Amino acid sequence: MSAIPRARRIYTNRTLNLRAISAIGFDMDYTLIHYEFETWERQAYSHVSRALADEGWPTDKLVFDPKRVIRGLVVDTSTGNLVKANRFGFIKYAFHGTRLLTYKEVKDEYSRTIIDLSEDRWQFLNTLFSVSDGCLYAQLVDAMDRGTSLPGVSSYEELYAKVRETVDLAHLEGQLKGDIMSRPDAFVELDPHTAVALQDLKYGGKKLLLITNSDWVYTRAMMSFAFDRFLGPGSSWRDLFDVVIVDARKPTFFAQMNPLYEVATDDGLLRPVLRALRDGHVYSGGDAKLVEDWLGVDGESVLYVGDHIFSDVNVSKQIQRWRTALILRELENELEAIENFEEKQAKLWALMREKDELDTKVSQLKATLQRLEHGYGSPGSISIRDVEDTLQEVRKQQEAKDEEVVPLAREAAALANENWGLLLRTGNDKSHLARQLERYADVYTSRVSNFFYYGPHAYLRSSRGSLPHDPVSC
Ligand SMILES: [Mg+2]
Repeated sequence: MSAIPRARRIYTNRTLNLRAISAIGFDMDYTLIHYEFETWERQAYSHVSRALADEGWPTDKLVFDPKRVIRGLVVDTSTGNLVKANRFGFIKYAFHGTRLLTYKEVKDEYSRTIIDLSEDRWQFLNTLFSVSDGCLYAQLVDAMDRGTSLPGVSSYEELYAKVRETVDLAHLEGQLKGDIMSRPDAFVELDPHTAVALQDLKYGGKKLLLITNSDWVYTRAMMSFAFDRFLGPGSSWRDLFDVVIVDARKPTFFAQMNPLYEVATDDGLLRPVLRALRDGHVYSGGDAKLVEDWLGVDGESVLYVGDHIFSDVNVSKQIQRWRTALILRELENELEAIENFEEKQAKLWALMREKDELDTKVSQLKATLQRLEHGYGSPGSISIRDVEDTLQEVRKQQEAKDEEVVPLAREAAALANENWGLLLRTGNDKSHLARQLERYADVYTSRVSNFFYYGPHAYLRSSRGSLPHDPVSC
């Protein structure tokens, strides 16, 4: 294991024995194919703001800010806030529009609130595709607060619905995908090891499927661009997959039976077929049940690899009991930031332990004082005056310790992203995204090509998992 860089390892929540997996399905966008995130999202942002400007919205002067939003945040559509919650759903950080709320404001607004993602009020930002609309929403909340007229909307909820609708249209109308297809080299980050990783799995006896919500024309163009160059002469990306399913309409794909069509021609002509998959064919639509019938196995033998925490991982796990792998590209930057901060982190933990000791001492002294004042317990021969003096002294030490802790804690909270910090942490706790990831992703890793380091027979064993009473390791 030591030979594999941390940033490229596969991390395991639930033990996954690849030998017991007979088929692996892959999502395409941001899974098999990684886009230059800032370039893509900037393009998406400009399409959406232009579409809104055409309807009279004041979006022509707005500028995309890639640091404004990270995956795993939640939009509170009733208040116009973007929030970051911990694993229990308690909100710890919030921006109203683009303004950071103070600790007190967060407490006043949310001390009685626990995020429940099944409520419409909360919109979870599931993928990197969410960054541009999250950013635009925050900026338009500012505009709304300034009293700028936003045609057709009069509340933060309506504003969110409008931004989402416009984003969806930009994707559906294909303008954006047209841009990408016309110059894929500007948008796609190539990775030569992905093809080898897939070949490893294929020759290791796994059936491979591509299951994407993208349409055939786009899928063919992107897959061909990203894979054909790394395969031998006369081979194409199609040789890597036993079955290709486009227009999959995930999460519905995992949740209910859907009509199945075969893609009959290269330009995407569809024809209806019987409900059965056959090797070497390309389909449009269909569902997870068809995949299991085709393989003759149940969900435990199928692994699905995707980047969308809800559509790819949550639903496939909850409904089909498929094994799941989440692709979290940001992990690479985050691990680098964590590694660079290691020395300071060790110092911060040491300071926090000292601070804890002082806090405990204060609490004990206050209890002694109370016993002395009320004459109960056995506080010993010590005088009230002595206890008060000691208490004052320890409080001074506490203040001095805080002065050392605060700047380091601030730095720790801004790792990887100055506004929101690490993806999987909320303060010292796990983030809400980390909780989702633990529940629904059996394994997670930064990119598909990391399977290259493991091969098709790997036994990915979960770690023991820590509990608060474990011996201290921090
Ligand atoms: Mg995807």
